[in-house]
Order: sequence, then C-alpha cells, then structure tokens
Amino acid sequence: MRKFFCRDARFSDLTTIKVGGYIERFFQPATKASFINLLSEEKGPLFILGSGSNTLASDAIFSETVIRTRFGGVECVKREREKTYLRADAGVIWDDFVRACVQLGMQGVENLSGIPGTVGAAVVQNIGAYGSEVSESVREVEVWDRLQKKVCVLDEPSMEFGYRTSLIKEDIKLQSPYAPNPRFVVLSALFCLSSKNFAPIKYKNIADYLGKPMGSVGKLWDIRRAVLSVRGSKDMLEDPARYRSRLMANMMPERLKEIPLPPLSPNPNRDSCGSFFVNPVVSPEKADLLPLGAPKFASQGKVKLSAAWLIEQAGFKKGYPLQKDPNARAALSTSHALAITNRGSATARDIMDLAHKIKGKVREKFGVNLALEPVLVGLEEK
Ligand SMILES: Cc1cc2nc3c(=O)[nH]c(=O)nc-3n(C[C@H](O)[C@H](O)[C@H](O)COP(=O)(O)OP(=O)(O)OC[C@H]3O[C@@H](n4cnc5c(N)ncnc54)[C@H](O)[C@@H]3O)c2cc1C
Repeated sequence: MRKFFCRDARFSDLTTIKVGGYIERFFQPATKASFINLLSEEKGPLFILGSGSNTLASDAIFSETVIRTRFGGVECVKREREKTYLRADAGVIWDDFVRACVQLGMQGVENLSGIPGTVGAAVVQNIGAYGSEVSESVREVEVWDRLQKKVCVLDEPSMEFGYRTSLIKEDIKLQSPYAPNPRFVVLSALFCLSSKNFAPIKYKNIADYLGKPMGSVGKLWDIRRAVLSVRGSKDMLEDPARYRSRLMANMMPERLKEIPLPPLSPNPNRDSCGSFFVNPVVSPEKADLLPLGAPKFASQGKVKLSAAWLIEQAGFKKGYPLQKDPNARAALSTSHALAITNRGSATARDIMDLAHKIKGKVREKFGVNLALEPVLVGLEEK
C-alpha cells in the first residue's frame, strides 16, 4: 500500500501564487526509483508538481493524483579541459544547482540565479532570464515515457526548445491524453557547462549593478549576486516566508537556509507565478502594424514584442487591481507589469478574470494574442 505524503494538501499551500483547492491524492517519493515505480503504476491523469512556482490550479477539489518531485542530486558525468558535464535529477531545487555551478567555477547558468522551482520544471519551461535560457546548457533529458512505459533519453534537438517552451510543454497545451501532465515526465537532465570562473555580462541591469560595460566579463559569483539583487528589487524572488509551511519546508533552496525566514506578513507583490504573460512572437507584417515606439526584437525571422509594453499601453499600469477597490484580491504587481499577484484571499477565478481582462484589452487594442506562462490545472484560457 502506497503512503500518501499528506492527506489534506491544497494547491494553495504548494504554489507561489497561493491559490487552488484540495488534492485528493498527494505523493512525494523519496527516490528516483520510487518515483518511476509510482509513475508506472498510475494509469489515470496525474499532475507532476515541482515547487509550484508556475502552476495555477482551480479552487475545486483536484480528484486525481499529484506527485511532487523532491529527490536525487547532482553528479559529475565527465570533465574535459574546457567543459564539465553534470547530471541533475528532476527533484533538485534549481537555484541549488545554479549555486553549486557558480561555486565550482562552471559557467552557463549564472544568469538564471534565483528562479524558483526544480530542475525538472526548468527544462519543461525552458526558463530564461537576463540574456540566458536553460536550453543553452542542456544536452539531453532523461524522461519516463507514459506511452511506452519506459525510461527514454531525449537529446537537445528532440526537446524542441523554444521561447519558454519545449516539446514537453507543448504537449500539455495540446491537451494530450496524459493531461494535465505531458506524455514525458522528466527524471533528470544532462548539462554541459564551461569550466570558467567568469562570464560575459549580457544584460543592462546587471552591467549597471556591477558598474561594468555590457559585453565585458564578470566573475560568476558577482554575476549571481547582481542577478539576485536586481530580481529582489523587482519583487521577482519568491516569498521566503512560504517555507515556514510544514508542506514546503523540504523544498527550501539552500540560499534561504542562511538567512532568518521573515515573519508571515509577506510582501503583497510576492504571491505570484512570476511573469503571467509571455512576450508574443509575431510575423514582421503584424509587428509593422503596431504604433511607433513599440519595443520590437528580432527572433528567428519573426519579431518578439514586449508583453509589458502592450499591457501598460492598453491601460493596465503596475498595481492595476481586478476590482476598483483598495482591497482588491488580485492585482498587477506594483513592481512588475507582467506579474499578477494574489493580495491575500484571491481565488483562481479572480486571477483568471484579471488575466482575461488584460488579454481582451490587448487583443482589442493591438490585435495581439497574449499567451499565459503558468500551467493551468482545471482552468481554461479564453
Ligand atoms: C517570483 C517568480 C519569479 C520567476 N522568474 C522567472 C524567470 O525569471 N524566468 C522564468 O523562465 N521563469 C520564472 N518564473 C517561473 C517559474 O519559476 C519557472 O517556470 C520554474 O521552472 C517552475 O518550476 P516549478 O518546479 O516551481 O514548477 P511547477 O509550477 O511545480 O510546475 C510547472 C510545470 O512543469 C511541470 N513539471 C514539473 N516537474 C516536472 C517533471 N519532472 N516532468 C514533467 N513535467 C514537470 C508541471 O507539471 C507543470 O506543468 C518565476 C516564478 C516566480 C514565482
């Protein structure tokens, strides 16, 4: 008989946006072998959860199985003169992996410091920040294939990484028979990092923080420090107080173990999924229809637009609330136009209502469809 990790877990306890209903069956296997065992036995729909930092779940009871990944470690597979190959299990906390790479003088993921979540989800989402994406360092991904019921390896081209997406994430959007989870479940990822203690500075905010010109180099540890500080100034670090909860304690990144956890009066901007909208990528013809002054960036023959600019120009300033009420339950972050925040008692419906209001207005004003970044569980995007 398998043991439930917890009988009364709710998505609101397990996600950074602190929204979502009770979960009928919640497991947390302690090893990769028991994770695979559980996956092979589960026939029905299931949801794989990491740190819950990119998940928005319905307020209704989730009557299926949730398996949270928190197992494994990091192993050095091969060391060449200039390259090091590290394998990290899906349940490793992403920022612990980054921190270890920086400490060991391995370049490639330092700009992704402080992004909440696990290694497994980082690969699914192709996380990115400050000029880097995780796909630049991933060489292969070990997965459990729910169709063939066996362990397989997807090399980097088969992962079809794109801007905040991958083969695995696209499968979720296609409403596969394995929904709400994709066919492939990540077990581990192989990373190739450069054996260097320094890296180019790719982003203006980071260059300004370090007082160096763009394109110059900085020590890995300095870049990590700069990224964490810039993220903090935009409320783009998760709320450390969430790790006071019994259900979250074992998910805490090492970085936070070194500071006293703040009291449970979190910063109102912090209960979010990070960016709620991805920057739209459109055809050059469509981009030409936008007003002068709209930020545009070339992206593989297409044009990437700034979702934050579109949102602000459509009338949603930072801090915009769902209801015209100082106590609105859902509002845009006052520090970041892309983040929808739970102000304390928001429901999933409140969050989706605000998202749909913003999407509708941007579509009406600019003819551009904004896609949502978080993965929805039991909710539909209009
Ligand atoms: C404050 C804040 C800042 C953020 N900043 C950034 C940023 O700068 N850049 C960025 O890209 N993202 C950012 N994010 C989003 C988020 O941190 C990332 O998407 C992260 O990778 C999610 O990890 P997680 O473990 O919390 O995923 P979860 O929310 O637990 O899961 C996300 C999705 O991945 C799937 N999944 C999880 N593990 C596996 C697995 N092993 N196999 C298959 N599927 C799996 C889940 O089923 C779900 O569909 C931010 C979020 C917050 C709250």
